Amino acid sequence: MKEKILGVDVCVDSYEGLITKILEDIDQKRKSLIVAINPEKIMKAQEDPDLHRLLNSATYQIPDGIGVILASKLKKGSIRNRITGIDMMLKLCEAARDHHKKVFLYGAKPGVAETAKRELEAMYPGIEIVGTMDGYQKNQEVVKDAINQSQADILFVAMGSPAQENWILANMNDIFPSIFQGVGGSFDVISGNLKRAPKGFQSLGLEWLYRLLKEPWRWKRQLILPAFLVKALRD
Ligand code: UDP
Repeated sequence: MKEKILGVDVCVDSYEGLITKILEDIDQKRKSLIVAINPEKIMKAQEDPDLHRLLNSATYQIPDGIGVILASKLKKGSIRNRITGIDMMLKLCEAARDHHKKVFLYGAKPGVAETAKRELEAMYPGIEIVGTMDGYQKNQEVVKDAINQSQADILFVAMGSPAQENWILANMNDIFPSIFQGVGGSFDVISGNLKRAPKGFQSLGLEWLYRLLKEPWRWKRQLILPAFLVKALRD
C-alpha cells in the first residue's frame, strides 16, 4: 500500500511488513530498490521530473523524517511511524543474519565501510557481510566484479542522494544482489565517524533540531519543512 504526497509515493507498511516483503523478494530473486523519502526530496522532485520519476520507480519508499508523517496526518492519510533509512538498514541486517542472507557495503570514504562492517558484526553476531568497497573507486568494473563475486543478496549504497539512487537504477539489473538500498551517510554513523541524535531527540521527532544545533549550516536545508507542509496541505 502506498500514499501519494505531492505526487511522490510513500509506503504505508510497518518495518515488519516491509521486512517480510523484502525477504520474499530475495527468495523469488526479485529486484527491489528501497529509497528514503523526506520533505527535501519531495520538494526537489516538484522541480525535477527525473528525480520524481526516480523516487516513484523505487519498489519501497520509506517515510524518513517527521515532515512526511505530518503531511500524511494533514491529508488524513495513514502513515504514522517514521522509518528512517538507517533504522531500515539495521533491521535488514538483523533479518539478513536471522535468515542467512548476504550483505555488501558500498560507499563512503576509504576505510569507513570496513569499520562499519566490524561494528555490524559486533551488533549482529553471525551476520555475513561478504564485501565492502569505498565510494571513490573510479573503476566501475572493479566495483561490480567485487559485488558479483561476493554473491550478496542485499547491497547498501552510501554515496548521498540522488547519486546513490541513480547508481542503483543504472546497475541493479546487471549485478547479483536482489535488494538495493541507498543509505546516505549511514556508514559514517555506524562506523562512529558521525554521531546520531540521542534517543530522546529521536523519539520526539526532533532529530532535525539536533542536527541543526550540531551542523548550523544546515539551517537553509531545514527551511524547507514549513514550506513543504503548506504545499502538501494545499495540494
Ligand atoms: N560519498 C561517496 N562517494 C562520493 C561522494 C560521497 O561515497 O563520490 C559518501 C560520503 O563519503 C558520505 C556519503 O556519501 O559517506 C554522503 O552522505 P550524506 O550524509 O551527504 O548523504 P545524504 O543522506 O545527506 O544524501
